[in-house]
Amino acid sequence: MSSHKVPFELKNPDLLKYDSYIHGEWKKAKSGKTFEVVDPGSDKAWATCPDNDAQDVDAAMQSSQKAFDQWKISNPRKRAELLLAWHRLITDNRDDIAKILTHETGKPLAESQGELTYSLGFTWWFAGEAERITGTVQTPAAPNRRVFVVKQPIGPAVALVPWNFPIAMILRKAGAAFAAGCTMVVKPSPETPLTCLTLAHLASQAGFPPGVFNVLTTSLENTPAMSEAMILHPLTKKVTFTGSTRVGKLVAGLCARNLKKCTLELGGNCPFIVFDDANLDQALEQFQALKWRHAGQACITANRLYVQSGVYDKFTQMLVEKTKTLKMGHGAAEGTTLGPVTTPRGLAKAQSQAEDAVKHGAKMVLGTGKAEKNSTEDEGAGQGKGVGGYFMSPTVLTGMSHEMLMAREETFAPVIGLFRFETEDEVVKAANDTSMGLASYAFTKNVDRMWRLLENLEAGMIGMNTGNSSAAESPFGGIKESGYGKESGKDVAVREYLVEKTGTFTLE
Ligand code: NAD
Repeated sequence: MSSHKVPFELKNPDLLKYDSYIHGEWKKAKSGKTFEVVDPGSDKAWATCPDNDAQDVDAAMQSSQKAFDQWKISNPRKRAELLLAWHRLITDNRDDIAKILTHETGKPLAESQGELTYSLGFTWWFAGEAERITGTVQTPAAPNRRVFVVKQPIGPAVALVPWNFPIAMILRKAGAAFAAGCTMVVKPSPETPLTCLTLAHLASQAGFPPGVFNVLTTSLENTPAMSEAMILHPLTKKVTFTGSTRVGKLVAGLCARNLKKCTLELGGNCPFIVFDDANLDQALEQFQALKWRHAGQACITANRLYVQSGVYDKFTQMLVEKTKTLKMGHGAAEGTTLGPVTTPRGLAKAQSQAEDAVKHGAKMVLGTGKAEKNSTEDEGAGQGKGVGGYFMSPTVLTGMSHEMLMAREETFAPVIGLFRFETEDEVVKAANDTSMGLASYAFTKNVDRMWRLLENLEAGMIGMNTGNSSAAESPFGGIKESGYGKESGKDVAVREYLVEKTGTFTLE
Protein backbone atom coordinates (compact mmCIF):
# COMPACT_ATOMS: atom_id res chain seq x y z
CA MET A 1 0.00 0.00 0.00
CA SER A 2 1.03 3.59 -0.55
CA SER A 3 0.36 6.21 2.11
CA HIS A 4 -0.78 8.70 -0.55
CA LYS A 5 -4.25 9.12 -1.96
CA VAL A 6 -4.47 8.12 -5.60
CA PRO A 7 -5.90 11.17 -7.45
CA PHE A 8 -7.96 9.16 -9.97
CA GLU A 9 -10.22 6.15 -10.13
CA LEU A 10 -9.49 2.85 -11.81
CA LYS A 11 -11.90 0.15 -12.95
CA ASN A 12 -9.28 -2.35 -11.77
CA PRO A 13 -7.51 -0.80 -8.73
CA ASP A 14 -5.44 -3.99 -8.37
CA LEU A 15 -3.29 -2.72 -11.25
CA LEU A 16 -1.54 -0.31 -8.91
CA LYS A 17 1.37 -2.04 -7.18
CA TYR A 18 3.81 -0.22 -4.94
CA ASP A 19 6.51 -2.83 -4.30
CA SER A 20 9.29 -4.30 -6.37
CA TYR A 21 8.58 -7.58 -8.12
CA ILE A 22 11.13 -10.37 -7.61
CA HIS A 23 10.56 -14.04 -8.41
CA GLY A 24 6.78 -13.67 -8.41
CA GLU A 25 6.66 -11.79 -5.09
CA TRP A 26 6.15 -8.14 -4.14
CA LYS A 27 9.14 -6.95 -2.13
CA LYS A 28 10.24 -3.94 -0.06
CA ALA A 29 13.79 -2.60 -0.25
CA LYS A 30 16.15 -4.21 2.29
CA SER A 31 16.76 -0.74 3.73
CA GLY A 32 12.98 -0.27 4.14
CA LYS A 33 13.32 3.09 2.40
CA THR A 34 10.87 4.42 -0.18
CA PHE A 35 10.76 7.31 -2.65
CA GLU A 36 7.84 9.38 -3.93
CA VAL A 37 6.29 9.34 -7.38
CA VAL A 38 5.19 12.82 -8.48
CA ASP A 39 2.49 13.88 -10.95
CA PRO A 40 4.26 16.35 -13.31
CA GLY A 41 0.91 18.00 -14.04
CA SER A 42 0.34 18.98 -10.40
CA ASP A 43 3.78 18.68 -8.74
CA LYS A 44 2.10 16.49 -6.10
CA ALA A 45 3.42 13.14 -4.88
CA TRP A 46 0.76 10.45 -5.24
CA ALA A 47 2.55 7.17 -4.51
CA THR A 48 5.68 5.68 -3.01
CA CYS A 49 7.87 2.79 -4.19
CA PRO A 50 10.80 0.87 -2.68
CA ASP A 51 14.08 2.75 -2.81
CA ASN A 52 16.22 -0.28 -3.61
CA ASP A 53 20.00 -0.01 -3.67
CA ALA A 54 23.00 -2.17 -4.51
CA GLN A 55 22.26 -4.67 -1.70
CA ASP A 56 18.91 -5.56 -3.36
CA VAL A 57 20.44 -6.49 -6.70
CA ASP A 58 21.78 -9.99 -5.98
CA ALA A 59 18.37 -11.48 -5.11
CA ALA A 60 16.90 -10.15 -8.37
CA MET A 61 19.79 -11.53 -10.44
CA GLN A 62 19.77 -14.93 -8.69
CA SER A 63 16.05 -15.17 -9.42
CA SER A 64 16.63 -14.17 -13.04
CA GLN A 65 19.29 -16.89 -13.46
CA LYS A 66 17.13 -19.53 -11.78
CA ALA A 67 14.25 -18.72 -14.12
CA PHE A 68 16.60 -18.60 -17.13
CA ASP A 69 17.77 -22.19 -16.55
CA GLN A 70 14.27 -23.42 -17.46
CA TRP A 71 13.06 -20.56 -19.67
CA LYS A 72 15.96 -20.97 -22.13
CA ILE A 73 14.83 -24.50 -22.99
CA SER A 74 11.10 -23.74 -22.98
CA ASN A 75 9.03 -24.34 -26.10
CA PRO A 76 9.16 -21.11 -28.19
CA ARG A 77 5.45 -21.59 -28.91
CA LYS A 78 4.80 -21.46 -25.16
CA ARG A 79 6.78 -18.20 -24.96
CA ALA A 80 4.71 -16.82 -27.84
CA GLU A 81 1.48 -17.81 -26.07
CA LEU A 82 2.59 -16.03 -22.89
CA LEU A 83 3.48 -12.87 -24.84
CA LEU A 84 0.02 -12.97 -26.42
CA ALA A 85 -1.67 -13.53 -23.05
CA TRP A 86 0.25 -10.49 -21.72
CA HIS A 87 -0.80 -8.57 -24.83
CA ARG A 88 -4.48 -9.35 -24.19
CA LEU A 89 -4.33 -8.39 -20.50
CA ILE A 90 -2.66 -5.06 -21.31
CA THR A 91 -5.31 -4.47 -23.98
CA ASP A 92 -8.17 -5.31 -21.59
CA ASN A 93 -6.81 -2.85 -19.00
CA ARG A 94 -5.59 -0.15 -21.35
CA ASP A 95 -7.92 2.64 -20.15
CA ASP A 96 -6.71 2.22 -16.57
CA ILE A 97 -3.05 1.88 -17.61
CA ALA A 98 -3.38 5.08 -19.66
CA LYS A 99 -4.49 6.94 -16.51
CA ILE A 100 -1.49 5.68 -14.52
CA LEU A 101 0.83 6.61 -17.39
CA THR A 102 -0.62 10.12 -17.66
CA HIS A 103 -0.15 10.72 -13.92
CA GLU A 104 3.49 9.57 -14.07
CA THR A 105 4.65 11.24 -17.28
CA GLY A 106 2.20 14.13 -17.68
CA LYS A 107 1.29 13.20 -21.26
CA PRO A 108 -2.36 13.74 -22.33
CA LEU A 109 -4.61 10.70 -22.00
CA ALA A 110 -4.98 10.38 -25.79
CA GLU A 111 -1.19 10.18 -26.06
CA SER A 112 -1.04 7.58 -23.30
CA GLN A 113 -3.47 5.54 -25.38
CA GLY A 114 -1.20 6.15 -28.37
CA GLU A 115 1.80 4.84 -26.45
CA LEU A 116 -0.20 1.74 -25.52
CA THR A 117 -1.13 1.10 -29.16
CA TYR A 118 2.53 1.45 -30.14
CA SER A 119 3.63 -0.78 -27.23
CA LEU A 120 1.12 -3.51 -27.99
CA GLY A 121 2.71 -3.76 -31.42
CA PHE A 122 5.78 -5.18 -29.66
CA THR A 123 4.08 -7.92 -27.64
CA TRP A 124 2.28 -8.99 -30.82
CA TRP A 125 5.35 -8.78 -33.06
CA PHE A 126 7.73 -10.60 -30.73
CA ALA A 127 5.20 -13.38 -30.10
CA GLY A 128 5.57 -14.03 -33.85
CA GLU A 129 9.37 -13.80 -33.71
CA ALA A 130 9.70 -16.43 -30.93
CA GLU A 131 9.13 -19.40 -33.23
CA ARG A 132 11.25 -18.10 -36.09
CA ILE A 133 14.72 -18.09 -34.52
CA THR A 134 16.77 -20.31 -36.80
CA GLY A 135 20.42 -21.24 -37.21
CA THR A 136 22.26 -21.82 -40.50
CA VAL A 137 24.08 -24.66 -42.22
CA GLN A 138 27.03 -23.72 -44.43
CA THR A 139 27.95 -25.44 -47.68
CA PRO A 140 31.14 -27.31 -46.64
CA ALA A 141 34.53 -26.66 -48.24
CA ALA A 142 35.40 -30.36 -47.90
CA PRO A 143 32.99 -33.28 -48.44
CA ASN A 144 33.53 -34.72 -44.94
CA ARG A 145 33.11 -31.38 -43.16
CA ARG A 146 29.90 -29.92 -41.72
CA VAL A 147 29.71 -26.31 -40.53
CA PHE A 148 26.64 -24.80 -38.90
CA VAL A 149 25.62 -21.97 -36.60
CA VAL A 150 23.21 -22.40 -33.69
CA LYS A 151 21.63 -19.50 -31.83
CA GLN A 152 20.94 -19.60 -28.10
CA PRO A 153 19.62 -17.09 -25.57
CA ILE A 154 22.48 -15.14 -24.02
CA GLY A 155 21.29 -15.22 -20.40
CA PRO A 156 19.72 -12.88 -17.83
CA ALA A 157 19.39 -9.34 -19.21
CA VAL A 158 19.30 -6.04 -17.34
CA ALA A 159 17.15 -3.24 -18.78
CA LEU A 160 17.57 0.41 -17.77
CA VAL A 161 14.71 2.45 -19.21
CA PRO A 162 13.73 6.13 -19.42
CA TRP A 163 10.59 7.89 -18.27
CA ASN A 164 9.40 9.35 -21.58
CA PHE A 165 7.84 6.19 -23.09
CA PRO A 166 8.08 3.87 -20.10
CA ILE A 167 5.68 1.20 -21.34
CA ALA A 168 6.88 1.13 -24.94
CA MET A 169 10.54 1.01 -23.98
CA ILE A 170 9.98 -1.93 -21.62
CA LEU A 171 7.85 -3.95 -24.03
CA ARG A 172 10.24 -3.26 -26.94
CA LYS A 173 13.05 -4.81 -24.85
CA ALA A 174 11.17 -7.50 -22.90
CA GLY A 175 9.30 -8.70 -26.01
CA ALA A 176 12.56 -9.43 -27.83
CA ALA A 177 14.24 -10.90 -24.73
CA PHE A 178 11.37 -13.26 -23.91
CA ALA A 179 11.01 -14.38 -27.52
CA ALA A 180 14.73 -15.23 -27.52
CA GLY A 181 14.44 -17.17 -24.24
CA CYS A 182 16.14 -14.61 -21.99
CA THR A 183 14.92 -13.39 -18.62
CA MET A 184 15.00 -9.70 -17.69
CA VAL A 185 15.43 -7.48 -14.63
CA VAL A 186 14.04 -4.02 -15.34
CA LYS A 187 15.06 -0.84 -13.56
CA PRO A 188 12.42 1.74 -14.41
CA SER A 189 13.07 5.44 -14.17
CA PRO A 190 12.38 6.94 -10.72
CA GLU A 191 9.68 9.06 -12.40
CA THR A 192 7.77 6.08 -13.84
CA PRO A 193 7.96 2.95 -11.65
CA LEU A 194 4.20 2.36 -11.43
CA THR A 195 3.46 1.53 -15.06
CA CYS A 196 6.40 -0.89 -14.93
CA LEU A 197 4.96 -2.59 -11.84
CA THR A 198 1.57 -2.78 -13.57
CA LEU A 199 3.27 -4.60 -16.45
CA ALA A 200 4.87 -6.99 -13.93
CA HIS A 201 1.48 -7.68 -12.34
CA LEU A 202 -0.07 -8.44 -15.73
CA ALA A 203 2.93 -10.61 -16.72
CA SER A 204 2.33 -12.70 -13.62
CA GLN A 205 -1.38 -12.96 -14.45
CA ALA A 206 -0.49 -13.96 -18.00
CA GLY A 207 1.44 -16.92 -16.55
CA PHE A 208 5.10 -15.97 -17.00
CA PRO A 209 7.11 -18.16 -14.59
CA PRO A 210 8.54 -16.41 -11.49
CA GLY A 211 11.84 -14.68 -12.21
CA VAL A 212 11.36 -14.22 -15.96
CA PHE A 213 10.34 -10.57 -15.44
CA ASN A 214 11.71 -8.89 -12.32
CA VAL A 215 11.45 -5.20 -11.42
CA LEU A 216 13.75 -3.23 -9.12
CA THR A 217 12.60 0.33 -8.44
CA THR A 218 14.90 3.01 -7.07
CA SER A 219 15.16 6.75 -6.45
CA LEU A 220 17.14 9.29 -8.45
CA GLU A 221 19.80 9.31 -5.68
CA ASN A 222 20.32 5.53 -5.64
CA THR A 223 20.10 5.11 -9.42
CA PRO A 224 23.83 5.28 -10.29
CA ALA A 225 25.00 2.83 -7.59
CA MET A 226 22.16 0.35 -8.11
CA SER A 227 22.50 0.45 -11.92
CA GLU A 228 26.23 -0.16 -11.60
CA ALA A 229 25.62 -3.15 -9.34
CA MET A 230 23.10 -4.55 -11.85
CA ILE A 231 25.45 -4.14 -14.81
CA LEU A 232 28.52 -5.54 -13.03
CA HIS A 233 26.69 -8.48 -11.40
CA PRO A 234 28.35 -11.68 -12.64
CA LEU A 235 25.01 -13.25 -13.61
CA THR A 236 24.12 -10.32 -15.91
CA LYS A 237 24.94 -11.39 -19.46
CA LYS A 238 23.30 -8.60 -21.44
CA VAL A 239 22.59 -4.93 -20.78
CA THR A 240 20.02 -2.95 -22.71
CA PHE A 241 19.87 0.77 -22.06
CA THR A 242 17.60 3.49 -23.36
CA GLY A 243 18.30 7.01 -22.18
CA SER A 244 20.62 9.94 -22.60
CA THR A 245 23.95 9.78 -24.42
CA ARG A 246 25.70 11.01 -21.27
CA VAL A 247 24.50 8.05 -19.18
CA GLY A 248 24.80 5.69 -22.17
CA LYS A 249 28.54 6.33 -22.23
CA LEU A 250 28.77 5.47 -18.51
CA VAL A 251 26.81 2.26 -19.11
CA ALA A 252 29.05 1.32 -22.07
CA GLY A 253 32.11 1.89 -19.86
CA LEU A 254 30.74 -0.42 -17.16
CA CYS A 255 29.87 -3.09 -19.74
CA ALA A 256 33.35 -2.81 -21.22
CA ARG A 257 34.95 -3.87 -17.93
CA ASN A 258 33.77 -7.45 -18.45
CA LEU A 259 32.95 -7.11 -22.16
CA LYS A 260 29.22 -7.54 -21.60
CA LYS A 261 27.01 -7.35 -24.65
CA CYS A 262 25.19 -4.04 -24.67
CA THR A 263 22.49 -2.27 -26.67
CA LEU A 264 22.39 1.52 -26.45
CA GLU A 265 19.34 3.52 -27.58
CA LEU A 266 20.43 7.09 -26.83
CA GLY A 267 19.58 10.71 -27.42
CA GLY A 268 18.67 12.41 -30.66
CA ASN A 269 18.97 15.86 -32.21
CA CYS A 270 16.81 15.15 -35.22
CA PRO A 271 16.57 17.49 -38.22
CA PHE A 272 13.20 18.00 -39.92
CA ILE A 273 13.72 19.43 -43.43
CA VAL A 274 11.06 21.12 -45.55
CA PHE A 275 12.03 21.81 -49.19
CA ASP A 276 10.37 24.41 -51.45
CA ASP A 277 8.61 21.66 -53.41
CA ALA A 278 7.13 19.92 -50.33
CA ASN A 279 3.43 19.50 -49.72
CA LEU A 280 3.35 22.07 -46.92
CA ASP A 281 0.06 20.88 -45.43
CA GLN A 282 1.45 17.38 -45.15
CA ALA A 283 4.75 18.63 -43.71
CA LEU A 284 2.92 20.73 -41.13
CA GLU A 285 0.56 17.95 -40.11
CA GLN A 286 3.46 15.53 -39.63
CA PHE A 287 5.55 18.12 -37.82
CA GLN A 288 2.73 18.91 -35.38
CA ALA A 289 2.17 15.24 -34.55
CA LEU A 290 5.89 14.62 -34.09
CA LYS A 291 7.06 17.76 -32.31
CA TRP A 292 4.44 18.36 -29.66
CA ARG A 293 3.95 14.70 -28.71
CA HIS A 294 4.70 14.34 -25.01
CA ALA A 295 5.61 18.06 -24.93
CA GLY A 296 8.61 17.49 -27.20
CA GLN A 297 10.05 14.71 -25.03
CA ALA A 298 10.62 11.93 -27.56
CA CYS A 299 14.10 10.84 -28.64
CA ILE A 300 13.01 10.97 -32.30
CA THR A 301 11.22 14.32 -31.99
CA ALA A 302 12.08 17.14 -34.43
CA ASN A 303 14.83 19.19 -32.76
CA ARG A 304 15.87 21.42 -35.64
CA LEU A 305 13.41 22.63 -38.29
CA TYR A 306 15.13 23.53 -41.58
CA VAL A 307 12.89 25.32 -44.09
CA GLN A 308 14.01 26.31 -47.60
CA SER A 309 13.92 30.05 -48.20
CA GLY A 310 11.15 29.96 -50.86
CA VAL A 311 8.60 28.69 -48.30
CA TYR A 312 10.24 29.83 -45.06
CA ASP A 313 7.91 32.77 -44.31
CA LYS A 314 4.78 30.93 -45.38
CA PHE A 315 5.61 27.77 -43.41
CA THR A 316 6.53 29.80 -40.31
CA GLN A 317 3.15 31.51 -40.42
CA MET A 318 1.29 28.21 -40.95
CA LEU A 319 3.22 26.66 -38.07
CA VAL A 320 2.54 29.50 -35.65
CA GLU A 321 -1.21 29.56 -36.46
CA LYS A 322 -1.56 25.80 -36.07
CA THR A 323 0.49 25.68 -32.87
CA LYS A 324 -1.74 28.33 -31.27
CA THR A 325 -4.58 25.78 -31.34
CA LEU A 326 -2.79 23.46 -28.88
CA LYS A 327 -4.39 23.38 -25.46
CA MET A 328 -1.87 23.19 -22.63
CA GLY A 329 -2.97 21.58 -19.39
CA HIS A 330 -2.96 18.60 -17.10
CA GLY A 331 -2.87 15.41 -19.14
CA ALA A 332 -6.06 14.12 -17.52
CA ALA A 333 -8.03 17.33 -18.11
CA GLU A 334 -10.65 17.35 -20.86
CA GLY A 335 -9.32 18.63 -24.20
CA THR A 336 -5.62 18.85 -23.24
CA THR A 337 -3.34 18.42 -26.26
CA LEU A 338 -0.08 19.55 -24.63
CA GLY A 339 0.88 18.27 -21.20
CA PRO A 340 3.68 19.37 -18.88
CA VAL A 341 7.36 18.60 -19.16
CA THR A 342 7.99 15.53 -16.98
CA THR A 343 10.77 16.83 -14.73
CA PRO A 344 11.66 20.24 -13.28
CA ARG A 345 15.28 19.74 -14.43
CA GLY A 346 14.04 19.20 -18.02
CA LEU A 347 12.05 22.42 -17.81
CA ALA A 348 15.06 24.37 -16.50
CA LYS A 349 17.29 23.03 -19.30
CA ALA A 350 14.78 24.00 -22.02
CA GLN A 351 14.44 27.47 -20.52
CA SER A 352 18.19 28.05 -20.66
CA GLN A 353 18.33 26.73 -24.25
CA ALA A 354 15.59 29.18 -25.34
CA GLU A 355 17.32 32.05 -23.50
CA ASP A 356 20.59 31.20 -25.21
CA ALA A 357 18.91 31.23 -28.65
CA VAL A 358 17.40 34.67 -28.04
CA LYS A 359 20.72 35.96 -26.73
CA HIS A 360 22.34 34.84 -29.99
CA GLY A 361 19.78 36.60 -32.17
CA ALA A 362 16.78 34.25 -32.52
CA LYS A 363 13.29 35.77 -32.46
CA MET A 364 10.58 34.23 -30.29
CA VAL A 365 7.45 34.31 -32.45
CA LEU A 366 5.27 32.17 -30.18
CA GLY A 367 5.35 31.20 -26.50
CA THR A 368 7.60 32.33 -23.69
CA GLY A 369 10.34 29.71 -23.43
CA LYS A 370 9.77 29.91 -19.68
CA ALA A 371 8.11 27.92 -16.90
CA GLU A 372 4.38 28.71 -16.85
CA LYS A 373 1.27 27.90 -14.88
CA ASN A 374 -1.24 25.21 -15.71
CA SER A 375 -4.17 26.72 -17.60
CA THR A 376 -6.76 23.96 -17.13
CA GLU A 377 -8.80 22.72 -14.26
CA ASP A 378 -7.74 19.23 -13.31
CA GLU A 379 -10.38 17.38 -11.41
CA GLY A 380 -8.29 14.22 -11.46
CA ALA A 381 -5.33 15.57 -9.53
CA GLY A 382 -7.46 17.78 -7.33
CA GLN A 383 -5.64 20.88 -8.54
CA GLY A 384 -7.20 24.08 -9.69
CA LYS A 385 -6.14 26.44 -12.45
CA GLY A 386 -2.75 28.07 -12.28
CA VAL A 387 -1.18 25.74 -9.74
CA GLY A 388 1.61 23.18 -9.78
CA GLY A 389 3.09 21.30 -12.68
CA TYR A 390 6.09 21.83 -14.93
CA PHE A 391 4.49 23.66 -17.82
CA MET A 392 5.87 25.53 -20.80
CA SER A 393 3.61 26.72 -23.60
CA PRO A 394 4.66 25.76 -27.14
CA THR A 395 7.52 28.04 -28.10
CA VAL A 396 8.62 28.83 -31.66
CA LEU A 397 11.85 30.65 -32.52
CA THR A 398 12.97 31.88 -35.94
CA GLY A 399 16.35 33.00 -37.25
CA MET A 400 18.26 30.10 -35.70
CA SER A 401 21.95 29.48 -36.29
CA HIS A 402 24.34 26.67 -35.51
CA GLU A 403 26.27 28.30 -32.69
CA MET A 404 23.15 28.19 -30.50
CA LEU A 405 22.72 25.46 -27.86
CA MET A 406 19.44 24.40 -29.47
CA ALA A 407 21.35 23.45 -32.62
CA ARG A 408 23.94 21.38 -30.80
CA GLU A 409 21.99 19.81 -27.92
CA GLU A 410 18.88 17.69 -27.70
CA THR A 411 15.90 19.97 -26.93
CA PHE A 412 13.59 17.88 -24.78
CA ALA A 413 10.67 20.27 -24.36
CA PRO A 414 7.95 22.07 -26.39
CA VAL A 415 10.45 24.41 -28.03
CA ILE A 416 11.39 24.51 -31.72
CA GLY A 417 13.70 26.73 -33.75
CA LEU A 418 13.51 27.36 -37.51
CA PHE A 419 16.68 27.48 -39.63
CA ARG A 420 16.49 28.99 -43.13
CA PHE A 421 18.44 27.25 -45.92
CA GLU A 422 19.03 27.74 -49.66
CA THR A 423 20.40 24.51 -51.16
CA GLU A 424 20.22 20.75 -50.64
CA ASP A 425 24.00 20.50 -50.10
CA GLU A 426 23.87 23.23 -47.48
CA VAL A 427 21.02 21.62 -45.52
CA VAL A 428 22.54 18.12 -45.59
CA LYS A 429 25.77 19.55 -44.17
CA ALA A 430 23.83 21.41 -41.47
CA ALA A 431 21.60 18.42 -40.65
CA ASN A 432 24.69 16.22 -40.16
CA ASP A 433 26.47 18.86 -38.06
CA THR A 434 25.77 17.05 -34.79
CA SER A 435 27.32 14.18 -32.85
CA MET A 436 23.88 12.48 -32.83
CA GLY A 437 22.40 10.27 -35.53
CA LEU A 438 19.03 8.93 -34.46
CA ALA A 439 16.35 10.02 -36.97
CA SER A 440 16.02 12.55 -39.81
CA TYR A 441 12.93 13.72 -41.68
CA ALA A 442 12.64 15.34 -45.09
CA PHE A 443 9.67 16.64 -47.09
CA THR A 444 10.03 16.89 -50.87
CA LYS A 445 8.30 15.62 -54.01
CA ASN A 446 11.60 15.04 -55.85
CA VAL A 447 12.29 11.28 -55.90
CA ASP A 448 15.94 11.65 -56.94
CA ARG A 449 16.47 13.94 -54.00
CA MET A 450 14.79 11.43 -51.67
CA TRP A 451 17.38 8.82 -52.66
CA ARG A 452 20.26 11.27 -52.22
CA LEU A 453 18.96 12.24 -48.78
CA LEU A 454 18.54 8.62 -47.73
CA GLU A 455 22.18 8.03 -48.61
CA ASN A 456 23.62 11.32 -47.31
CA LEU A 457 21.77 12.03 -44.06
CA GLU A 458 23.63 10.57 -41.08
CA ALA A 459 20.87 8.88 -39.06
CA GLY A 460 19.71 5.39 -38.21
CA MET A 461 16.15 6.13 -39.34
CA ILE A 462 15.09 8.39 -42.21
CA GLY A 463 11.47 9.50 -42.62
CA MET A 464 10.61 10.74 -46.11
CA ASN A 465 7.37 12.75 -46.21
CA THR A 466 6.51 11.28 -42.82
CA GLY A 467 7.29 12.11 -39.22
CA ASN A 468 6.54 8.57 -38.13
CA SER A 469 9.23 6.03 -38.85
CA SER A 470 8.92 3.87 -35.76
CA ALA A 471 6.90 0.65 -35.58
CA ALA A 472 7.26 -2.91 -34.30
CA GLU A 473 8.19 -4.22 -37.76
CA SER A 474 10.84 -1.51 -38.40
CA PRO A 475 14.39 -1.82 -37.02
CA PHE A 476 14.83 1.02 -34.52
CA GLY A 477 18.21 2.44 -33.57
CA GLY A 478 20.69 5.22 -34.06
CA ILE A 479 24.21 5.73 -35.36
CA LYS A 480 26.99 8.07 -34.18
CA GLU A 481 26.45 9.04 -30.52
CA SER A 482 22.79 7.97 -30.66
CA GLY A 483 23.98 4.47 -29.84
CA TYR A 484 24.31 1.00 -31.30
CA GLY A 485 22.22 -2.13 -31.65
CA LYS A 486 18.65 -2.43 -32.90
CA GLU A 487 15.28 -2.84 -31.25
CA SER A 488 12.13 -4.01 -33.08
CA GLY A 489 12.15 -5.26 -36.67
CA LYS A 490 12.62 -8.73 -38.09
CA ASP A 491 15.53 -10.81 -36.69
CA VAL A 492 17.72 -7.85 -35.66
CA ALA A 493 16.01 -7.12 -32.33
CA VAL A 494 15.92 -10.73 -31.14
CA ARG A 495 19.54 -11.19 -32.25
CA GLU A 496 20.56 -8.71 -29.51
CA TYR A 497 19.57 -11.42 -26.97
CA LEU A 498 21.24 -14.37 -28.68
CA VAL A 499 24.71 -15.87 -28.84
CA GLU A 500 25.78 -17.62 -32.00
CA LYS A 501 27.89 -20.78 -31.82
CA THR A 502 29.67 -22.23 -34.83
CA GLY A 503 29.80 -26.02 -34.92
CA THR A 504 32.37 -27.74 -37.15
CA PHE A 505 32.17 -31.55 -37.51
CA THR A 506 34.41 -33.89 -39.42
CA LEU A 507 32.62 -37.02 -40.66
CA GLU A 508 34.34 -40.45 -40.94
P1 NAD B 1 18.69 9.14 -18.50
O1 NAD B 1 19.91 8.80 -19.27
O2 NAD B 1 18.81 10.16 -17.44
O3 NAD B 1 18.10 7.83 -17.79
C1 NAD B 1 17.86 6.62 -18.48
C2 NAD B 1 17.89 5.48 -17.49
O4 NAD B 1 19.17 5.43 -16.87
C3 NAD B 1 16.90 5.66 -16.35
O5 NAD B 1 16.46 4.40 -15.91
C4 NAD B 1 17.74 6.33 -15.27
O6 NAD B 1 17.20 6.14 -13.99
C5 NAD B 1 19.06 5.63 -15.48
N1 NAD B 1 20.22 6.43 -15.03
C6 NAD B 1 20.29 7.77 -14.84
N2 NAD B 1 21.51 8.12 -14.42
C7 NAD B 1 22.24 6.99 -14.35
C8 NAD B 1 23.58 6.70 -13.98
N3 NAD B 1 24.42 7.66 -13.61
N4 NAD B 1 23.99 5.42 -14.03
C9 NAD B 1 23.15 4.45 -14.45
N5 NAD B 1 21.86 4.66 -14.78
C10 NAD B 1 21.41 5.90 -14.74
O7 NAD B 1 17.58 9.52 -19.58
P2 NAD B 1 16.09 10.02 -19.29
O8 NAD B 1 16.17 11.45 -18.89
O9 NAD B 1 15.38 9.06 -18.43
O10 NAD B 1 15.44 9.90 -20.75
C11 NAD B 1 15.59 10.85 -21.74
C12 NAD B 1 16.70 10.48 -22.70
O11 NAD B 1 16.46 9.19 -23.23
C13 NAD B 1 16.78 11.42 -23.88
O12 NAD B 1 18.13 11.69 -24.17
C14 NAD B 1 16.14 10.61 -25.00
O13 NAD B 1 16.56 10.98 -26.29
C15 NAD B 1 16.58 9.23 -24.65
N6 NAD B 1 15.70 8.23 -25.27
C16 NAD B 1 16.21 7.49 -26.30
C17 NAD B 1 15.37 6.56 -26.93
C18 NAD B 1 15.89 5.72 -28.06
O14 NAD B 1 15.26 4.72 -28.37
N7 NAD B 1 17.00 6.08 -28.69
C19 NAD B 1 14.05 6.40 -26.51
C20 NAD B 1 13.59 7.18 -25.44
C21 NAD B 1 14.43 8.09 -24.83
